[in-house]
Amino acid sequence: MEDLKYPIWRITAKFDETAYENNSVSFTVSFKEKKTEQEIEEYAKEWWEKIAISEKNKDKGFVFKEFIITSLGEETWYLEWFCHTSLTRYDNEKDAFDSFARFLKRKRVDINYGGGSYPSDDSYMPMGGDDHWRWKYCDCQVCKDEGITIISH
Ligand SMILES: [Zn+2]
Repeated sequence: MEDLKYPIWRITAKFDETAYENNSVSFTVSFKEKKTEQEIEEYAKEWWEKIAISEKNKDKGFVFKEFIITSLGEETWYLEWFCHTSLTRYDNEKDAFDSFARFLKRKRVDINYGGGSYPSDDSYMPMGGDDHWRWKYCDCQVCKDEGITIISH
């Protein structure tokens, strides 16, 4: 199965809050349809507004400063919180794991099959994705309906 690649974006929001100044939060995101940097910034604004007004954050006194939008090029997998997502639906675990292994190899990350090694390239942090034994293929209906694949780790 072909490894389709989509543009990956890193969104960083810089902000002050009552307890800290110069705080920031970052995440990566990708979309099946092509988006301009301006459209990504619109997406970031909507995301930030939801965070800033959410019940659990309402007393933190967030003062938004700026977004930093970075293109990370095109790839098959992008990092989320202790998982990687692909906008391609791999409908079985083997195809998903094979594709993810090819992705790690492109990023020069050594796959750890249980020995406790570290990635060869420190500039790329797979957040546990280098540990093969942590890989868990998501077979839920949401992934099927959205046509995506998630490997948690
Ligand atoms: Zn799922």
